[in-house]
Amino acid sequence: MQPYAPAPDLDVPDVTTRLLVRVAGWAVLAIGGAIALLLALDPVGQSTSRILFNLGAGLVGGLALVLARLRHWRLAAHLLVWGVWCFVTLVTVRNGGLHGPNLLNYPVLIVLSGWMLGGRATVVLVAITGMLFGLFFWAEAQGWMPQVPRGSRWAHGVYLAGILVLTAAATLLSRRNYMQRVQEAQRTAHELAASESQLRKLLRAVEQSPESIVITDLQERIEYVNEAFVQRTGYVRQEVLGHAAALFSSKGMEAAQRQGLRETLASGKVWAGEQTNQRKDGAPLAESVVVAPIRQTDGSISHYVEYRQDITERKRAAQEIHRLARHDALTGLPNRAMLVEHLHGLQERADGSPATLHALLLLDLDRFTVFNDARGSEMGDRLLCAMALRLSHQLPAEGMLVRVAGDEFALVLHGLGDDAPLAGRRALAFADQVQAALGQPLRLQGDAGPIQWTASVGITLYPQGPEDQAHDALRRASMALHRAKAVGGGQLAFFEQEMGQAAEQRFQLERELRQAIGAGELRLFLQSQVDMQGRTTGAEVLVRWQHPRDGLVMPGVFIAVAESSDLIVLLGRWVLEQACALLANPALAQQRVRLSVNLSARQFRQPGFVQELRALLERTGADPALLTLEVTEGLVIEDFDDVVAKMRELAALGVEFSLDDFGTGYSSLAYLKRLPIQEIKIDRSFVRDACTNADDGALVEAILSVARHFGLRVVAEGVETEEQASYLRERSSAIICQGFLYCRPQPQEDWLQRLT
Ligand code: C2E
Ligand code: CA
Ligand code: CA
Repeated sequence: MQPYAPAPDLDVPDVTTRLLVRVAGWAVLAIGGAIALLLALDPVGQSTSRILFNLGAGLVGGLALVLARLRHWRLAAHLLVWGVWCFVTLVTVRNGGLHGPNLLNYPVLIVLSGWMLGGRATVVLVAITGMLFGLFFWAEAQGWMPQVPRGSRWAHGVYLAGILVLTAAATLLSRRNYMQRVQEAQRTAHELAASESQLRKLLRAVEQSPESIVITDLQERIEYVNEAFVQRTGYVRQEVLGHAAALFSSKGMEAAQRQGLRETLASGKVWAGEQTNQRKDGAPLAESVVVAPIRQTDGSISHYVEYRQDITERKRAAQEIHRLARHDALTGLPNRAMLVEHLHGLQERADGSPATLHALLLLDLDRFTVFNDARGSEMGDRLLCAMALRLSHQLPAEGMLVRVAGDEFALVLHGLGDDAPLAGRRALAFADQVQAALGQPLRLQGDAGPIQWTASVGITLYPQGPEDQAHDALRRASMALHRAKAVGGGQLAFFEQEMGQAAEQRFQLERELRQAIGAGELRLFLQSQVDMQGRTTGAEVLVRWQHPRDGLVMPGVFIAVAESSDLIVLLGRWVLEQACALLANPALAQQRVRLSVNLSARQFRQPGFVQELRALLERTGADPALLTLEVTEGLVIEDFDDVVAKMRELAALGVEFSLDDFGTGYSSLAYLKRLPIQEIKIDRSFVRDACTNADDGALVEAILSVARHFGLRVVAEGVETEEQASYLRERSSAIICQGFLYCRPQPQEDWLQRLT
């Protein structure tokens, strides 16, 4: 807002001054002309100079009018004042000086000068006029001034009237101008006050707005922030003013978003979006943001204004709604929607990579509806919560537990490997464990006695191929669950029935074997090894399982099952204990009969195996030098250095090693010399075919020559015929044979009796 117009320049003076120049010009022209005319016509006869002087004054007025017409206002005004002053002075001199009638002219000229020429010119005029008056006094005192001549009455009348009119006109015009200005000033002051209060109101509104408001210049430097911004971000004003907005108000913007913002603003449009900004202390601040350009009256953009609304609470509420929509209200567990989402995620994760299998278990409490109807829904809810808790305790860290509906729960078991039968067995074992846990007696709050529950479980593996969807898996598990329920309570069923059966059998076997080890159902069998002369030099220890229902079970049935879990460690430990105890038998020690014990990889890898064996040897008093541990190439080939180191530790005790099933595995001769072994066992498949198949014969010969080269003992397995025996004996005089030709594996007692 401009306070006042600048002081008027005389060349382009204000309206009143222009009017005054014109009015005064016309008045002077009229009065001067009229007086000159009246003097000239006066019958008394007037002096020519008086006529001429008045005429001159009139002409000055005319000249001023011409200049005004040409827009030389300043010149016109000066001419008018000073020109008239000069002629008036000449007339005054002629008309008797201070006593003449013309003195009235001077105040009128001073008034005109005041309005038209301004202060300084008027002071000069007054000073000169004052000096003129002094000159008149002096001249009069000297007696040089002429007498006041007799004038023309008409001319005098015109003169006086003109003077009055001119003075009145100048004063009234000036007053009008003055009044206009006063009014204008008052109006301006009023408007100013009004706009100032409006401005204050706006400022307070911006300052106290609940939304953060930031004003930046076109370079995005912050020029203003309101109180809400300060409160919300934790910055003090001095920290942000003059700095780049990117550092404070839009910290959370990504480069792409910022670019979009710039482009929108550059095109003069309003940008709106959401950001997660940062408070000064680093805490996140979710905001909804609107940025708009500020335009000046001419349309150009001078600033940007940002309105920021805190939506942290709104976001949190949205998240909570999202969470509630995916969780069950009673148990707080994820619900079916989340299960589907989760299964979907597992399928996506499997994309491209070799599919690892997961198991989906649907679990339904048996007879829940009956309980709910009889005890009321409150007790029903309590039971469900208790079951949910038990289930959650069974769940491994990466598993997922879901309440699908009513009394139906789902469990997802992750990462069961890519081998379907193995994964099936794992799922089955887990389901079994879950059922057992649910079956424990339970006492509900407000219920008289403990109750026992059974649950039916339907199982399926997931994903079964890249097209398998979450809903397919749920349908499969649900069908399996129906089958389990149809059989009666507390049952498990696989959707994949064959897998279910196989897994079930294997699982059953595992469970029984575990019991068998503790229950003393394992038996030690021995199969002698004989040298060329038919002397028994040693025996291989072979385990059997005396099953109460199935009779004697061969290791081929259960060793592989045991090897897939820790059972092989328990079993192997038992065999080693028995073998060492047998070795301590004086009969063996006296005849220097060796015992060979099969050692499985998992058992060998047990961290404390070396110490355990050392302790066992000491405890039983068995001679370590008579113990041979049979290992396979598979064991050696992984972690070669570690295995060799461990073998050396054992060798230091005096224990010997034999490489079992030699020829069937990797059979790299390269590592043979680096292994601390004393014996190799030729696999029975080569022994069987050596005399009929040239390839196998060549292989046996090669093995024999390598063994001779390294100074290793050779045991030929599975010698069944005399032909095989003589084939071997022809090629090696030191060979030891083991096979049905000499004897079958015998129970420990029988074997011992035969030896002694
Ligand atoms: P293996 O170590 O190769 O044991 C030799 C197998 O060949 C034994 O079978 C034995 O009965 C059989 N055999 C011996 N002579 C002949 C023959 O002339 N003809 C034929 N056809 N077979 C013969 P078995 O006792 O059924 O043992 C099978 C496998 O079970 C063993 O193969 C061994 O790998 C494993 N095993 C047995 N006992 C143990 C044990 O205590 N611990 C471990 N870890 N594995 C064992
Ligand atoms: Ca063996
Ligand atoms: Ca073997």
